[in-house]
Amino acid sequence: MKKTPTYKTGFVWHEIYMWHDTSGFCGSDRANAYVQPESHYESPEAKRRIRNLLEVSGLLGHLQPIEAAAVSEDELLLVHSPEYVNGILAQRQRLGQVDDETPLGIASVDIAERAVGGAIAATTAVMNGSVNNAYALLRPPGHHAEPDRGMGFCVFSNAAIAGAYALKHLGAKRIAFVDWDVHHGNGTEACFYDNPNALTISLHQDDWFPRNSGFKEHVGQGQGAGTNINIPLMPGCGHGAYLYAFEQIVIPALRAYIPDIIFVPCGFDAGIEDPLGRMMLFEDSYKAMTERLMTVADEVCQGRLVFTHEGGYNPKTAPFLGLAVIETLAGAKTGIQSPNLDLRRDVGCQTLQDYQRQHIDQLLAYFQSVDNCPLN
Ligand code: ZN
Repeated sequence: MKKTPTYKTGFVWHEIYMWHDTSGFCGSDRANAYVQPESHYESPEAKRRIRNLLEVSGLLGHLQPIEAAAVSEDELLLVHSPEYVNGILAQRQRLGQVDDETPLGIASVDIAERAVGGAIAATTAVMNGSVNNAYALLRPPGHHAEPDRGMGFCVFSNAAIAGAYALKHLGAKRIAFVDWDVHHGNGTEACFYDNPNALTISLHQDDWFPRNSGFKEHVGQGQGAGTNINIPLMPGCGHGAYLYAFEQIVIPALRAYIPDIIFVPCGFDAGIEDPLGRMMLFEDSYKAMTERLMTVADEVCQGRLVFTHEGGYNPKTAPFLGLAVIETLAGAKTGIQSPNLDLRRDVGCQTLQDYQRQHIDQLLAYFQSVDNCPLN
């Protein structure tokens, strides 16, 4: 370790998260007689390898282990409808499914509850000050799960439930989400769409998944109008474009909104070699975005940051992206990097392109015209 941690960083992990069984599914290609069976994209491998690199790097021993809290229906109902919760719980201890691409294995309902418990426990530890920040390496992911329907490999809306829990039980008055998974955080958005006490920000590939979702015009409704910020980015955005969007939109919005805690639904599928995204981020990008969030969190909410793990489907790159984020959160430097890091840095168009700048400037101008938007 080149620099030992300066922050107390909580870490939620349990091997049981990896036992959420998504096998028996043919990936995004619909099964037919000519599709050879393959493992589901949302399989344990990429996530388990993040945890393993943390161990091998020596960082894991410096993180504060956090155990998942027990979860009852009350917590699930903080954001989900009784009909949806009952429909999922009825599939306990049997093979089931949330939707066509979101299978449930025998133990998946119990594991999904434990993922919620992990997000709540991380949030509790950060809010009560026993750690400075936390990373919850959860499965199944949560950010596509809406109040009354799950989708996109997500069962319960982990980060949204933890946020609602912080508002109800942990003394938070306002919460914020910065979702940088390459897919739109439609579930988190839907859970707080009319709630002015939650600022939901999502950076994602424009009109990718779910389709017809995540547009800039979707700014919230009713009391919550103005507190949903969608930053749809065109495919091919890299380090420069994301950092520009951070500087122009994400950070000023957080600074103006002044939340008591910031949640980061954290996907690594905006990474350059991810099979389910068409973006170009790499280790330096995730590190830089984490640093900027830590700086603004220090300014507005005593550094309180909770990362909940979402997508990221390349088992070769995800461990290094995870290490980059978590060592930054901990203020540590392991000195360990992917042997391919220089290749990723050297890809053309990683710097901000003019057409990307124009697009992001137009988004900012739009948000500045929206009533009750923190950027107005
Ligand atoms: Zn994703």
